[in-house]
Amino acid sequence: MVKNKKKIVILGGGYGGVECTRKLEKYFRKDDGIEIVLISEDNFLLFTPMLPQVAAGMLATRHIVMPIRTIIKKTTFYEGRVKNIDPYGKIVNLWGTNEKRGVSIHYDFLVVSLGSETNFFGMSDVEKHAYTIKTLNDAMTIRNRVIDMLEQAENEPNPILRRSLLNFVIVGGGFAGIETAGEIMDLLLDARKYYPNISRDEIKVFVLEALPNILPGFSEKLAKFAHRLLTKNGIEIKLKTAVTSFDGYEIMMKKIEDNPEIKENSEREAIQTRTMIWTAGVTPVNTIKRSMFKTERGKIIVNDFLEVAEFPEVFAIGDCALFVDPTTERPFPPTAQLAEAQAKSAAHNLYSLITNQKMKKFEYKSKGQMAIIGKRNGVASFFGMNISGIWAWALWRNVYISKIPKWDKRLRVLLDWTIDLFFDRDISRLKFADKETSKEYKVLDEVDDVW
Ligand SMILES: Cc1cc2nc3c(=O)[nH]c(=O)nc-3n(C[C@H](O)[C@H](O)[C@H](O)COP(=O)(O)OP(=O)(O)OC[C@H]3O[C@@H](n4cnc5c(N)ncnc54)[C@H](O)[C@@H]3O)c2cc1C
Repeated sequence: MVKNKKKIVILGGGYGGVECTRKLEKYFRKDDGIEIVLISEDNFLLFTPMLPQVAAGMLATRHIVMPIRTIIKKTTFYEGRVKNIDPYGKIVNLWGTNEKRGVSIHYDFLVVSLGSETNFFGMSDVEKHAYTIKTLNDAMTIRNRVIDMLEQAENEPNPILRRSLLNFVIVGGGFAGIETAGEIMDLLLDARKYYPNISRDEIKVFVLEALPNILPGFSEKLAKFAHRLLTKNGIEIKLKTAVTSFDGYEIMMKKIEDNPEIKENSEREAIQTRTMIWTAGVTPVNTIKRSMFKTERGKIIVNDFLEVAEFPEVFAIGDCALFVDPTTERPFPPTAQLAEAQAKSAAHNLYSLITNQKMKKFEYKSKGQMAIIGKRNGVASFFGMNISGIWAWALWRNVYISKIPKWDKRLRVLLDWTIDLFFDRDISRLKFADKETSKEYKVLDEVDDVW
């Protein structure tokens, strides 16, 4: 047993956290003087690019999650929710609930990769009534909601209510929004044959985007191609359109004018719907915003080596870290690709720091972007090439299946995709019992007990 082991604690079991853990395990595989600890609120890695396919019932829920314990080798894993981080005392506190002990964990080195949550830009009515697509639970809820709307509309004689039930609105034209719109349309069209009273023309899927184009980050040509194809498949895209309110029944929106002087008089419109899916932006989780780290727009400011400047033993990566692209002088968009690249770099720099070697500056060049847009179509810019249509769709599938770390899950996803080629989607609507969320429970919360 090695005395005075140094402890590296990684917060967040998403793309950044898991990749960093795996790299650190490799660097320190023969070093018994280093203990690695990973903390995350879920005990699985969620494969977010496939969430829209779960929402559309193409993939089974468990097939897009990888249990963390099956990926890590010599790391200690804690399933727990981080309450706060004390970078002066070098302690991470976990919430105590009626089911879980609230413990404090000491660290010598820390990697923060707590990701992001949906940003409603202060619109509490939207937050209350809209659906989101960020977690596995969100995807399952959306699928059930879509099927429920078909069930209700099928026997609804009131034409106004019927229309509102069959309008599905996705806010945000980034890849989460576009992929969700494409997949939901596919689900609706596939399921419709079991609802003989619903005609094709009654089903409407809208995408609302505040920018002048969908899919920012893609070339204009690819974004326009995707726009044309989505429109051809019956999806109505409203550009330069900002949501102003949603009460669960009606979305109010306004046109964003190029000329700021006519802003106030800009055209206002409404859509009656029971289903709004909000994908219009992300913001770092509250644990980060409340932390003692310096933040900008909620993200932790890091230096060229991904270290938090005031605390050199702390690194921040992924959606919760602010790293500016030197060419555009704007923060890099939050992607899994960036989180993984930063995870590799942070692990390397942490290893260098511990072994007294020179750290390397983080440099990033995106390998490209890909999105699937429904009906076996996609768009991709990959190593400088622009690809669209079925080839982009096939490329998306190849790339993402190869990114799943375990073979059993790869096979399950492949099987789901194959079954989807030959059979209709399952339209059983599953009900989930709403379980009250755990409240903080003081008796078990032995916060002075440092592990
Ligand atoms: C629908 C959708 C589609 C997407 N498609 C793509 C795509 O095609 N390509 C792409 O590159 N990117 C895509 N993204 C973006 C990508 O998922 C994120 O950029 C990426 O997950 C960021 O990695 P991360 O490690 O920073 O955060 P995450 O992967 O979000 O991981 C954060 C982890 O921290 C945990 N956590 C958060 N708060 C706490 C807490 N207080 N205590 C304990 N644990 C906590 C979370 O449970 C999570 O496990 C998509 C995102 C969504 C939602």
